[in-house]
Amino acid sequence: MSSIRGFDNLHKRDVFELVRSVAYERKDVILAMTINRLNFEHIETFVREVSMWHGGGVVFSFSTPYVGDQQPFYLKDEQKEQTVQRLLRLKDVYGDFIVMSRRALELLRPCEVSRWSPQCPTWAAKSIRSDGIPIERCIFGPKADCSRCGCNISTSMVALGEGDRETARMLSLPMRLATAAAPHESIVASSQPRRGDCSSNP
Ligand code: SF4
Repeated sequence: MSSIRGFDNLHKRDVFELVRSVAYERKDVILAMTINRLNFEHIETFVREVSMWHGGGVVFSFSTPYVGDQQPFYLKDEQKEQTVQRLLRLKDVYGDFIVMSRRALELLRPCEVSRWSPQCPTWAAKSIRSDGIPIERCIFGPKADCSRCGCNISTSMVALGEGDRETARMLSLPMRLATAAAPHESIVASSQPRRGDCSSNP
């Protein structure tokens, strides 16, 4: 557990406990984990811990660099491929608690990103800064490297455009969870076959 408890040195706060206090037993709160070199080894530990909070679930994205940014903070393609396989295994175990479809997860693979990013569905969402000024192109701004994009909103929109039924169901899930009075019942196993064959990858 200590491996996933961060301390925000900038604001001098225990961020993990702060998030827990907000998200605990809140079906209308979905956690978002942005995966990078600092945290990618702790994804399973993180999911195991937050699954005990009985909240709305968790989604994943990869940190998206600016064009030309080669900082080691960002995962390499091979690491992303392996990480997506781990996310798919978590999806098999945690089911709807991972609030993304299998296809939306698969579309985070670099070999998939190279296919969809030139036609990224930026029309699906308008991004606006806290001061009200619209952000050009997408939430990451015009300098972001589309070929290394890790945006889970975009992968969900692409999967929806492919007609993926699980994605349609997952996109409506947060609202249903928030309004449901029944206890959390999302930990399900699934044997649904995986799509998204990138021939040179597992
Ligand atoms: S960086 Fe922005 S525009 Fe480019 S692929 Fe990602 S979400 Fe789309």
